[in-house]
Amino acid sequence: MAYDPENIFAKILHGEIPCDKVYEDDYVLAFNDITPKAPVHVLVIPKGTYVSHDDFSQSATVEEIAGFTRAIGKIARDQGVAQTGYRLIANAGVNGGQEVPHYHVHILGGASVGPMVSGD
Ligand code: AMP
Repeated sequence: MAYDPENIFAKILHGEIPCDKVYEDDYVLAFNDITPKAPVHVLVIPKGTYVSHDDFSQSATVEEIAGFTRAIGKIARDQGVAQTGYRLIANAGVNGGQEVPHYHVHILGGASVGPMVSGD
């Protein structure tokens, strides 16, 4: 799938749509999910134009992958969920239920986030 430069996270990255930013560095932007599913629900997106984990894992540079991975860990610590635990989710494609076609990882925590897959 080709990257859609008009997707909503691209617009957030470019400042065309506001977000509730929690962190930014050279590699990532992180902001609170607009419909949180847990007390802490942060979305972490790479600044590069990658559709999904499939695209990112194939085409991102080692620096981008390292920067993204390290940022997720830092954000989880900064959000206070590293000690109590959290879940990372990266939905990809149709079967993964991905809604926004700009790669992102959800950080969910602050309370038990329940079973891994609900089945609903
Ligand atoms: P996914 O199914 O992994 O693509 O999830 C997309 C997520 O983006 C959902 O949890 C939405 O609530 C969230 N979302 C959509 N639009 C916005 C927005 N403008 N600001 C923050 N989160 C958003």
